Parts: sequence; structure tokens; C-alpha cells
Amino acid sequence: MRNYSIAIDGPAGAGKSSVAKAIAKKLNFVYVDTGAMYRAFGLYYLRKGISLEMEEDVNKEVSNVTIEMINKDDGVKIYLNGDDVTTAIRTEEASRGASKVSVYPMVREKMVKLQQEIAKKTNVIMDGRDIGTVVLPNATLKIYLTASTDVRAERRYLEQTEKGIKVDLSEIKKDIEERDYRDMHRSTSPLKQADDAILVDTSDMNKEEVIEEILNLCRKKDIL
Ligand code: C5P
Repeated sequence: MRNYSIAIDGPAGAGKSSVAKAIAKKLNFVYVDTGAMYRAFGLYYLRKGISLEMEEDVNKEVSNVTIEMINKDDGVKIYLNGDDVTTAIRTEEASRGASKVSVYPMVREKMVKLQQEIAKKTNVIMDGRDIGTVVLPNATLKIYLTASTDVRAERRYLEQTEKGIKVDLSEIKKDIEERDYRDMHRSTSPLKQADDAILVDTSDMNKEEVIEEILNLCRKKDIL
């Protein structure tokens, strides 16, 4: 049986995860949120009180970190050394931690291996920053999902506000710009569009339109 994989890369707040989740459901594929893995990895250091600034200090602990993704009835759960951190990784602090820890090659090597193992076993839709370029270079379909910084900041703002979390729009925008910069300029696996990825700019699209556009691309690749 043919094993299908869909790679979705793009900057923070482009809508990758909500779109990927919906498509996974529609196609009955496993959704792999690689950002969640880096968030859990970063959380390990935050909880231990180890600074993420020094690569040497980070590297010393890499072998002590175990990340697992398990499909449960109420969604995919992420575990850090056996502890369910699905909710704990969703804070702004964990997000910054992920962005910092993910620049280190030893961390990336471990996560990429894990992601490739998952994709070998099942049909996946995987989102992240390096999926089309590094993790799944032979993916059946590659999408580069993006939107303007203002639109992405506004979406994050609404998301947080709806959850009752008080946030500042200009702070969010600054944070997104910093994260984009770090992701696009790191020496290992920087965020970039793979040569064979299809660009989808969601600035003027709603979620349903984006899903429909990607499903159309799936049809063209005989995935659907
Ligand atoms: O996608 P999400 O915002 O949850 O990712 C958190 C951080 O993890 C990103 O800002 C990025 O620095 C890092 N990341 C990465 N490579 C991936 C997925 C996420 O470097 N494949």
C-alpha cells in the first residue's frame, strides 16, 4: 500500500495547525504537530530551570528528554518523559522556549528522527518549519502556508482573547517578528519554502477556503 505524506510549513500564526487538523480528519491521516514536540522539548529545560542560551548546557540533557505523541479519543496528546504536557506547552513562555531550543542541531536531529519514524508507519499530515525541506523531502504534497505579519498577529490576538487571556497586540506582533527571524536565520534547517512546495497565502482567506484549496491540491496529487 502506498504511504502518503503531506508537509505543511510556514511561519507562526499562518493557520497551519487548525487547517492540518481538519484535513487529517477528512483524509483519516495522522496529524503530527512538530511544533508541539519542540515546545515540549523546551518545557523540559524551563521546568528544570536550565537556561536555553548555552548550547552546551542544552546538549548535556538531550538524551534525558523523551517526547511521545499518543492518539486518544479526545485528540492527540503530547508527553514529556511520560507526563501529559498537552496543555502546558500552549503558553507564550513555552512558545518562546520552543523557538530557542529548536535552533540546536542535537535537538533537531532527535526530533527529525522521531518524526520520520512516525511518517514511515502511517499516512501523515505534518506541520512545522522544516517538513518539506528536511523531515519529509519526498512528501506526496508540500504546502508553504503563510500570511502577512499583521494578519497573523491579529489571529493570535483573537485566539488568546477568546480564551480569556489578556494580551497586547503590539507585543504579539513583536514576538511573531522575533520568532520568524530566529526560524528563518538559524543555521540548521531554517524556515524556507521547499523548491517543490506550493505557496498558499492565507492573508485574505478564511479557514474553510484554505481547507478547500488544500483539498483541491490533494485531488491533483491523487491523495483524495
Ligand atoms: O508551530 P509552533 O508555533 O507550535 O512551533 C513552536 C516553535 O518550534 C517555532 O517557533 C519554531 O521555532 C520551532 N519549530 C521548528 N521546527 C518545526 C516546528 C517548530 O523549529 N518543525
